[in-house]
Amino acid sequence: MAPDYKTLLLAIGLSGMCLAATLFASWLSARVERFLLSWAVGIGFIVLAVAAYGLYVERPDPVLGCLYFALQFAGFAFIYGAAYRFRTASPGRHRIAFVFLLCMAPSAPFLLMGLSGIAFIVFNLLVAVLLALTACEYWKGREEAPLPLTGIFLLYMLTAASFLLCAGMLVKARAWVLAGAPNNWAEDLNLVMAIIGITGIGAMSLALNQWRIAGSNRRAAMTDALTGLLNRRALFDRYGEDPVGPYAAVIAFDLDNFKAVNDRHGHAAGDAVLRVFARVLMENMPTAAIAARLGGEEFALVLDRTPPDRAAHAAESIRIAFAAEPIVVSGIALTCTVSAGVAHAGNEPLSFDALLAVADKALYASKQEGRNRVSASREMRRTA
Ligand code: GH3
Ligand code: MG
Ligand code: MG
Repeated sequence: MAPDYKTLLLAIGLSGMCLAATLFASWLSARVERFLLSWAVGIGFIVLAVAAYGLYVERPDPVLGCLYFALQFAGFAFIYGAAYRFRTASPGRHRIAFVFLLCMAPSAPFLLMGLSGIAFIVFNLLVAVLLALTACEYWKGREEAPLPLTGIFLLYMLTAASFLLCAGMLVKARAWVLAGAPNNWAEDLNLVMAIIGITGIGAMSLALNQWRIAGSNRRAAMTDALTGLLNRRALFDRYGEDPVGPYAAVIAFDLDNFKAVNDRHGHAAGDAVLRVFARVLMENMPTAAIAARLGGEEFALVLDRTPPDRAAHAAESIRIAFAAEPIVVSGIALTCTVSAGVAHAGNEPLSFDALLAVADKALYASKQEGRNRVSASREMRRTA
C-alpha cells in the first residue's frame, strides 16, 4: 500500500472520529434532533470500517472483507436512517436493519466464494444506491432550508458517483477476482471524496441543527403556551405600526366575569375555560383570519379585506358558539360568555394599533351594556 493511500485512510478515520464526537456532543446539548445521533452512529461505523479496510489491504482475508462490508453497510444504513429521520421525524429502525440486510445478502457471499472482484463491484453499486437514496431524502425536505439542504444533496450525490466510478473501473478491467483490495485511481478519488463528503456534510448537518433549534425557539417565543394561539408579541410583530387594510377588521374579545370562574372553581378551571375559548375561536373564525391571545382572558381576531357586516357577523357567531359550549371541569358544568368589540378600517388604511384601540373601546361598550354581546365601533356603524 502506498503511504499516501494510508494517509488518506487515516485522514478519513480521524476526521470521521472528530465529527462523530462533535455531532454526539451537539445532540447531547439539546437532545432534540435525534437525526444527529443516527448520523454520529453512522459515522462511527464508517470509522471502524476504515480501520477494518486498512487491515484488509494488508491481508485480504475474505472474513476480514466481510467485516469491512458489514461495518461500511451499517454506517451507510444509519446515515440513510438519519436522513429519513431528519425529513419525517420517525426513527426508521426497521428501515435501517432492512437496508443493511438487503446490502449484505447479495455482496458478502461473493467474497466468501472467492469472487472478490464481483463482491467489490456489487458493494460499490449498493453503496452508491444507498447514498443516492440518502441524497433524495434531503432533496425532498429541501424547502426547510434550501441552501444547506441542496448542498448536502449534492455532496451525497457526488460521493455516490465516486462509488459508481469504482464499480465501473472494476467492470471495465473485468476484474472478477482480485489479488488484494481494489487499487486504481477511482479508489483514490473515492477516498478523497469521502473526506470531502464527511467533513462537508458534517458541517452542514450541524448548521441545519442550529437552524432547526433557532426555528423552534422562534416559534415558542411567538406562541401562547396555554392555548397554542399566537401571542401578543407575535401579533404586534406581524402588524407592528404599519397600516392594515383597507377593509381590515379587528375584533377584541374579553371573557365575562372570568375572575369569578377562578375564584369559585380555581385557577386550573380558569385555564380550561381559556383553552375551550381558544378552540371555539379557531373553529368558528373565518378561515383567513389571524387569532391571538393578547394576555389574560383577552383575545383578538384580525380579518383582512372583510366587509364591516361580515366582521360583526364573525364576532357574533363566536359569541353564540362559546355561550352554547358545555364546559365541564372536574365534573362541574360551567357556562361562560364573552363580550366583543369590532373595529373596521373602512376604506382608509389604519395602523393595527389604532384599530385595536377602537375595538377595545367597542368592547368596553359591550361590557357597559351588560356583557355577552358584540358592539361595533361608532366609526364603523357610519361606514357600514
Ligand atoms: P369582565 O367581565 O369585566 O371582563 O370581568 P373579569 O372578571 O373577566 O375581568 P377581570 O379583569 O376583573 O379579571 C380577569 C381575571 O383573569 C383576573 C386574572 O386572575 C385572570 N387571569 C388572567 N390570566 C389568567 C390565566 O392565564 N389563567 C387563569 N386561570 N386566569 C387568568
Ligand atoms: Mg380583561
Ligand atoms: Mg374579562
